[in-house]
Amino acid sequence: RLHNTILELKGNIRVFCRVRPLLPDDSPCAEGKVVSYPTTTEALGRGIDLLQNGQKYPFTFDKVLHLMHHKRMFLLKFHSLFKVLLMVIRDDYSFSLQVCIFAYGQTGSGKTYTMMGKPGNPELKGLIPRSLEQIFQTRQSLLSQGWKYEMQVSMLEIYNETIRDLLSTNRDPLRTENGPSAKQYAIKHDANGNTLVSDLSIVDVHSTREVSFLLDQAANSRSVGKTQMNEQSSRSHFVFTLRISGINESTDQQVQGVLNLIDLAGSERLSKSGSTGDRLKETQAINKSLSSLSDVIFALAKKEDHVPFRNSKLTYLLQPCLGGDSKTLMFVNISPDPSSLGESLCSLRFASRVN
Ligand code: ADP
Ligand code: MG
Repeated sequence: RLHNTILELKGNIRVFCRVRPLLPDDSPCAEGKVVSYPTTTEALGRGIDLLQNGQKYPFTFDKVLHLMHHKRMFLLKFHSLFKVLLMVIRDDYSFSLQVCIFAYGQTGSGKTYTMMGKPGNPELKGLIPRSLEQIFQTRQSLLSQGWKYEMQVSMLEIYNETIRDLLSTNRDPLRTENGPSAKQYAIKHDANGNTLVSDLSIVDVHSTREVSFLLDQAANSRSVGKTQMNEQSSRSHFVFTLRISGINESTDQQVQGVLNLIDLAGSERLSKSGSTGDRLKETQAINKSLSSLSDVIFALAKKEDHVPFRNSKLTYLLQPCLGGDSKTLMFVNISPDPSSLGESLCSLRFASRVN
């Protein structure tokens, strides 16, 4: 494997597998049903095995992050990722760089933890707050070289194939807990490969504090469903978008970057979440968009002529960030709970298809 961070960013898609620790509410360890991953002190492993009834299912990814790595290596990795994001932008490697980072997995596997971290614990910040800190710091350090950056944030969710603006200050009066909003947000792509969502709120941000405030606002606006698995489980995809545009006043260089951080809806299959009625509809919409995502990434990886971006709102929205020279990182989040083994196997299979 390549060590240099820039070289590491070659290629468009990578997949990291992250196993969360066993929690008190998980079922006690059942014999013959385990998730095993490297427990040595080697920097980062790549393999993960699932053992079910004497059957071994081995998987290999770009990285497998387990407990011991969680904090230190995780941070290290992302510091460099975002440094590179800004470096690439600044050094004019490409005029525009688009990055997408997904958290995929069943409800309760640690997607939100990966993206947001542990609420109220500054030591355990997730990817979104940490990357913003990093980006704002880097921006500050580049001021002396003549670079000025403007940053804009938007946050939306896709619920039942409908887009909802999470930063809208005018509450949509037609919006209900389960029904789609009456407002239709149309997705368009301009000639420069930018995605435009009509009427979506776009907010200028100047500090991490401003972004935290917006994240809180967005969290309060999200759709929350009650599945048997996790009352807080989100049945929608959460898409956080940061647009960076930079101009160097000494050299007149101009650059652009887009960072999309996506907390996907739970990938669990129907029967397990006991879905009926609205929940059934939600689950079908989720399944449809997750399988479209897999199809798109698969088609891109195989360099197929036709990439079915239009099959779901999620893939159509992210089209410019998935294709071309953009970078995609997918976390497949896994629960070590033996009763989740079936779902874990599905998640790992999903992830190895796109890897
Ligand atoms: P999801 O968003 O996939 O439904 P969560 O992120 O809410 O799952 O995680 C479920 C539970 O597991 C939460 O209580 C969370 O704090 C905990 N958890 C998840 N990942 C980790 C981790 N890496 N370390 C410690 N606790 C974790
Ligand atoms: Mg979640």
